[in-house]
Amino acid sequence: MHEGATEAQIQNVLDRLIAAGFNVHRSTGESHTVLGAVGVHRDFDHRDFELLDGVREVMRITQPFKLASRQFKPEGTIVDVGRGVRIGGNEVIVAAGPCSVESREQIFAVAESVAKSGAKILRAGAFKPRTSPYAFQGLGEKGLQLMREAADKFNLCTVSEVMDPSQIAMMSGYVDMFQVGARNMQNYHLLRALGEIRKPVLLKRGMSATMEELLLSAEYILAGGNFSVVLCERGIRTFETYTRNTFDIAAIPVIQKLSHLPIMADPSHATGRRDKVAPMARAAVAAGADGLLIEVHNDPDHALSDGAQSLEPAQFAQLMAELRIIAPAIGRRIS
Ligand code: PEP
Ligand code: MN
Repeated sequence: MHEGATEAQIQNVLDRLIAAGFNVHRSTGESHTVLGAVGVHRDFDHRDFELLDGVREVMRITQPFKLASRQFKPEGTIVDVGRGVRIGGNEVIVAAGPCSVESREQIFAVAESVAKSGAKILRAGAFKPRTSPYAFQGLGEKGLQLMREAADKFNLCTVSEVMDPSQIAMMSGYVDMFQVGARNMQNYHLLRALGEIRKPVLLKRGMSATMEELLLSAEYILAGGNFSVVLCERGIRTFETYTRNTFDIAAIPVIQKLSHLPIMADPSHATGRRDKVAPMARAAVAAGADGLLIEVHNDPDHALSDGAQSLEPAQFAQLMAELRIIAPAIGRRIS
């Protein structure tokens, strides 16, 4: 719509798109409104709509992902997680914490140290998608309770993985952001359920998913009306075996060009090795990541999951100090 199009003009276009059988998503930017009409209509003539009052331009989004595309929302999305934490703006947001909640002592110790170092979000899993059914599966709701208490004490938001739609209602009481893990990126039933809620979702790239597939998975959530989606590059599987995964840093600028959604980077799962986490975190911030997801443990050698890739609190503090020097070089800041 034109800058300054009236509400009546916008409503008229909306009504006509709906009458033509489209699902319409409205995005109100700083200067103008974009109406995204999604549907399959072979005989649709977009010139009919160009003639309506207040319409500036009608264009077809040729990419398979529509609502996730930057064409739909050129100015970029900022996802509000709560407590003043906003992902996608000038500030690079760091989420840190253990792979899994293990005990009260552990989660409180880690929460205190990461908060002191400048993390804004406490990450920890309570439902763990472990490759082996015999590995530690997480503490479940009890873990979420402990995590919430620790986060509240140190003024942090929380993000934790959801594996099944049936967990969403219970988890809503404890988490500020739902994480969809790499193994569930194409669990479309789960994605649709997360489209129905109005809480932020951190969608991790599947280990063999293309960027287009990641954006199409995001599209499932957006199509339900939940626009608070943050993507996450966490490494992909290649022929290389030295690192756990291959960190696809190029995905950061590529996705920022294709989509308005913020993108975070997870150098912990991307490398699988503690000594490689800081260099890759620094590279991700330099490449323009909107945030980082980093595993930190107070006693990594005895961690119940992902100890080898977890930073010790002092290493995390040191990394944050380095990131505070790197971020301003590209016009960003980090607290
Ligand atoms: C995690 O964040 O602990 C996790 C299981 O990550 P991913 O889904 O990327 O493997
Ligand atoms: Mn992990």
